[in-house]
Amino acid sequence: MENVAIVQCSDYKKQTIQGAIERIFDLLECNFSSGILLKPNMLSSLSPEQAVTTHPVILEVLSEILPHPVYIGDSPPNSQKTIELYWEKCGYASIASNTGATLVKLEGKSTIFQLNIAGKTVSFPVSDFGLNHPIFNLPKFKTHNITILTLCMKNLYGLIPGYPKGLLHTEFPQPESFNSFIVEFYRMISEKVIFNLVDAVEIMDGNGPASGRKRYYGYLIAGKNAVCVDFVCATLAGLKIHEIPFLRIYETKYGIPGTKIVGDEPEIIDNFQLPLSSVLFRIQRVSALSKFVNTVANHLNVIPVINHRKCVRCMECYNVCPANAISKDLKIDRKKCINCLCCFEVCQHKAIEVKKSFLARIILP
Ligand code: SF4
Ligand code: SF4
Repeated sequence: MENVAIVQCSDYKKQTIQGAIERIFDLLECNFSSGILLKPNMLSSLSPEQAVTTHPVILEVLSEILPHPVYIGDSPPNSQKTIELYWEKCGYASIASNTGATLVKLEGKSTIFQLNIAGKTVSFPVSDFGLNHPIFNLPKFKTHNITILTLCMKNLYGLIPGYPKGLLHTEFPQPESFNSFIVEFYRMISEKVIFNLVDAVEIMDGNGPASGRKRYYGYLIAGKNAVCVDFVCATLAGLKIHEIPFLRIYETKYGIPGTKIVGDEPEIIDNFQLPLSSVLFRIQRVSALSKFVNTVANHLNVIPVINHRKCVRCMECYNVCPANAISKDLKIDRKKCINCLCCFEVCQHKAIEVKKSFLARIILP
């Protein structure tokens, strides 16, 4: 039986976070050695108030509690941009200088691995620094248009350096195969992950992971097993395993370990809004319809649409697109687009919206 701790944490004041983390460590009887890599969700160079990235005070408290050396690292999808800007905007640069933690670039040396997903073998790099240090996984509780929720298992995808992680979307353009990759990648590196702590003080629902609705929840959720922590988070969002593709795949293939909740009595998040893609996933679960969905998958989908009135022409979307589907004058070539929504994730100006494709608007509820 795997224990998962849910601990109330009313705000991001240092004292509040410290009390909550110390309680979690007591509840789960944790002891840590030195040399740990803190792996936050550093999706975008946005301030903590946007609820897109893991709050820096959590990393600050951990950097003070854990035996040194302590490292902080993630690899955001747009590796062309300087990582220093991400550290600065996310608040990690100042906490590193205050606590003596070391910021590391996961884009350095890497090792190539292979996985076979649904009969297709893919090669991809994994950060050597990540592989050679115990990983303390620190996701943000958010929605995601391809995985429905982005939590512990999905956050580990950041160990694949910058641009290659976008290219993997071209290998797995269908959400089902991408979610299978998330499962198998987690299985591949799970022994490196010593602990998972989800920042659920402020969360995001709706069209996450960057443009959804920021909400207050007021909890930290933690445990040694990433699958069990994700399962508990999904339950708190009022969702069943079959509604979260990577959890459903994990349950079918490996079984979700028995889970016991310790700590506070959790309340279900009120009116948790799912991303637009969840409608498509519901249809895919109806086996009679799934063959049809596979046949017309390129047309029955959620697609990115650039709102040129909000666009500031920063070219982040152009740089990140793994399918070269965005032109320099910021038009999306629908024939090239694989609907990975990487552009939607990196746009900091909410100038990319997700909409149902023409066929989806006709067919889906
Ligand atoms: S759509 Fe967003 S990411 Fe793309 S150029 Fe405009 S502001 Fe930048
Ligand atoms: S346009 Fe956006 S959704 Fe389409 S392939 Fe490029 S990054 Fe992915």
